Amino acid sequence: MMRLPRRVVAARPAAFRATLMAVAVALAVSALGTAVFTVTLGESVSDGLLNFLTFGGLAALTAGVLSWELASSRVCPRCRREGPRGAAGCANCGYDLRSRRRFACSEGHVVAYDPGMCDCGRRLLELGPVPVLRHAMGTLLLALAVVAALGIAALLAAALQ
Ligand SMILES: [Zn+2]
Ligand SMILES: [Zn+2]
Repeated sequence: MMRLPRRVVAARPAAFRATLMAVAVALAVSALGTAVFTVTLGESVSDGLLNFLTFGGLAALTAGVLSWELASSRVCPRCRREGPRGAAGCANCGYDLRSRRRFACSEGHVVAYDPGMCDCGRRLLELGPVPVLRHAMGTLLLALAVVAALGIAALLAAALQ
């Protein structure tokens, strides 16, 4: 369901591991939840399996998207290497991971991680900080909206049977 280019996986092993772990935990919790639910309501095994596939899949999707987004805060934007959580600077290229300064040409020619000049002769202007948390929250809300939409569709499909 989540197609990742091999290149991305190789470049971000920690993010990939964290995402796999989150998906596995979500699936395990969903399996346990639907098993309890099925037994409590006395539903058939096939109903329970269907519930698990629906809600387990959605939970795994949400957990995967969220953990991948949160793990991206550990990646150096300049050289794309992963660093330890909360590192002040990139161990590979020395980029300041706390301030994460970015510079851009006012004409939109280039975005750089160091101050300097654009090829067009304009001085690069510093950009505002990247809102990592807001970006992650946006992704989470989108994932929840998808989950809600699929859940409503599943309910409608069940009601029409
Ligand atoms: Zn770096
Ligand atoms: Zn320029």
